[in-house]
Amino acid sequence: MSTTEIIELPEQTTDDEPEVLILALVARRRAVLFPRLVSPLFLGRVASLRAVEDAMLHNTTVAVVTQRAQGEISLDNLYSIGTEANVSRLITLPDGNRQAWAQGQRRIRITGILETEPYVKVTAVPIEEPEAADGREVEALSRAVLSQFERTVQLSNRLSDDAYVAAVNMEQPGGLADFIASTLGLEIPQQQALLELLDPMERLQQVSVLLAKELDLLELQRKIQTQVQSEVDKSQREYYLREQIKALQRELGESDPQTRELAELREKIEASGMPEAASTKAQQELDRLSQMPPQSPETGVIRTYVDWLVSLPWATETEDNLDLKEGARTLDANHYGLSKVKERILEFLAVRKLTGGRMRSPILCFVGAPGVGKTSLGRSIAQALGRKFVRMSLGGIRDEAEIRGHRRTYVGALPGRIITAMRNAGTVNPVFMLDEIDKVGLDFRGDPSAALLEVLDPEQNFAFSDHYLDVPYDLSKVFFITTANRMDTVLPALRDRMEVIELSGYVEEEKLGIARAFLVPRQLEEHGLKPEGLRFADGALRRIIREYTREAGVRNLEREIGHICRKIARSLAQTERATKRITANGVPKFLGPRRFYWGAAEEQDEIGVATGVAWTETGGDLMGIEVTLMEGKGQLILTGRLGEVMRESAQAGLSYARSKGAELGIKPKFFEKTDVHVHAPEGAVPKEGPSAGITMATALISALTRRATRRDVAMTGEITLRGRVLPIGGVREKVLAAHRAGIRTFILPKKNEKDLLDVPKDVRRDMTFVFVEQMDQVLAVALAPASIQKAAAA
Ligand code: ADP
Repeated sequence: MSTTEIIELPEQTTDDEPEVLILALVARRRAVLFPRLVSPLFLGRVASLRAVEDAMLHNTTVAVVTQRAQGEISLDNLYSIGTEANVSRLITLPDGNRQAWAQGQRRIRITGILETEPYVKVTAVPIEEPEAADGREVEALSRAVLSQFERTVQLSNRLSDDAYVAAVNMEQPGGLADFIASTLGLEIPQQQALLELLDPMERLQQVSVLLAKELDLLELQRKIQTQVQSEVDKSQREYYLREQIKALQRELGESDPQTRELAELREKIEASGMPEAASTKAQQELDRLSQMPPQSPETGVIRTYVDWLVSLPWATETEDNLDLKEGARTLDANHYGLSKVKERILEFLAVRKLTGGRMRSPILCFVGAPGVGKTSLGRSIAQALGRKFVRMSLGGIRDEAEIRGHRRTYVGALPGRIITAMRNAGTVNPVFMLDEIDKVGLDFRGDPSAALLEVLDPEQNFAFSDHYLDVPYDLSKVFFITTANRMDTVLPALRDRMEVIELSGYVEEEKLGIARAFLVPRQLEEHGLKPEGLRFADGALRRIIREYTREAGVRNLEREIGHICRKIARSLAQTERATKRITANGVPKFLGPRRFYWGAAEEQDEIGVATGVAWTETGGDLMGIEVTLMEGKGQLILTGRLGEVMRESAQAGLSYARSKGAELGIKPKFFEKTDVHVHAPEGAVPKEGPSAGITMATALISALTRRATRRDVAMTGEITLRGRVLPIGGVREKVLAAHRAGIRTFILPKKNEKDLLDVPKDVRRDMTFVFVEQMDQVLAVALAPASIQKAAAA
């Protein structure tokens, strides 16, 4: 059966009439066959197979046309332009399907369907390609497209270099366009559109546009790939290098630094005797560390943390020296006097010895003015017990984090000061001194005293929590000693936890003893002077105490002794000659004119002045009160930073004076025309309390009656409107202060008589005490017996 029969041919075909072909149809669904190109034909349909077999048998061509959609073959369902092709090499594929090869010849337009059995035959007319017009234009476009295609082949991993060679060998622009179009993996409609684009130049241009798009994509793809590749390359390179280092180190019998460090840290954790919770935590952190690349910034943070954990004392403990005799010797060797305090410490040692060290350490609180030896006592206790000594000042701490540290999530976080001090101590049972517990601040950043309460509470401090450490730390073996200048500003909750030991100021004899036995030898040594090279006469020391210092402790005394030693050392260094003995007369040569007047002998009795005693943080001191009267309207003017209570007691003093006006010989109208100015010199120091009451009243009455007051008399006591004298506090400190200043007569409220028992005997012996209940009694002693001048005239 012949397939290329020409049926119903027009009678004659002339040259200008188109040739009409009758061809067996091979419809395709997923490809477009371009002229001049070879492509496999899958022959899934029986009809297609028969068509190909017939064509091969009769050596005729077939029409290869793409279907618009799946389904029955009809003119509507076929693209109208297809390709006439030769078929050859019919084979059976391994899966049983049949395949032949088709070689495209030329474009054809399908004009109709002739018959459908046993396969479809169509009528078609061939389409001749128009000649490309301008040779130069063709050449230029072809070259451009070829170079685009060359780049595409380079970049694409789908196309081989052969494709480019084949493209170069395409002679016609139309052929070039068809070839490239077939290689680009275009969608069917796009391919078909190119097949239908008959003008070769237009087709080539279209291909150029498609190539440009493709190139764009390929370039982007390549860029991404190179980036990815270089990342991969870098990390692989590092990995290999590191592996090589490890291998080399293994060869040399070394391990790499990180592994070594981790191993060391693990050993330290084992050795530190940490409790379970802490060592688990430390191990966990080490595990995290070992899994981290060494250059990660977090490794530093973890390492510091583990370092802190292992460097803290967890189990290291010093053994207490419980030898009482030796303890007593140590205390005496470092401190003069202070027998009560020393006794208390020895008692503690004794109890500890009896209980075999199981007893909890008490929390001591040393209260006293600066320089009375609180710190040095703490040191001696540590020395006597054979414990380490650490110290931390609480003055001005406002932030809880200073005590407890910051959480590790903070940049640069560190443990708080308690834990830092424990690390410095290096043992779990040091003597830990917390200075200035009366100066802990309160504010918005958490309450530091709450943290302190935890530290000082034996029920809680076995598991002290530091924010940084994050594991409980046992402070229960620590011997805490706190210090304070005054007790009234210490939080009551804190006060309850401590055993308060007061260190009141020293009297002159004690200071002398301390200077002779401790301060002078120490200063000599510090200045490189030999003990026999320089001696201080007692008179000299006494003069320094009286005229160059006025303090409860001995800090300034030590400083002044130091001054003298320095001057001696200097002249020794310069001239090799210096005084060998400091006498009372020689003191001003070194220390300049005296700074304080001692005793009242040299001072004149005066009108409108009285001497009281104030208690301050640095111990007690004399406080003069001055009164002047001016013409005015009966106002009371108060200056010298007087507190509320003190102002009230001035008011009370004035009212008392007015009520006694007649007795004192003051005219009633006098007060209406007079302003009274009460002043307490040394204005910068705040003064408060009712105990200056009788002093102010005395000064007032002295001014009003023009009677002078005795300057060798000092007084303290509260006054009522009716002139009764009420007791006051701090008798011991006040008496000592008056004694220091050389006062020999001291007026005290009767009710305070019992408090004198606290005053050292020597001092009591030195002074005369007058106990009073009424203001009259005060005036009788304080006002000079002198010529009673008439009350201030009016
Ligand atoms: P505080 O801590 O109370 O301010 P310090 O302990 O710093 O006082 O004492 C100041 C100086 O005075 C220290 O050098 C200390 O040795 C010395 N000192 C104080 N009291 C005595 C004393 N009773 N015996 C020997 N030296 C003392």
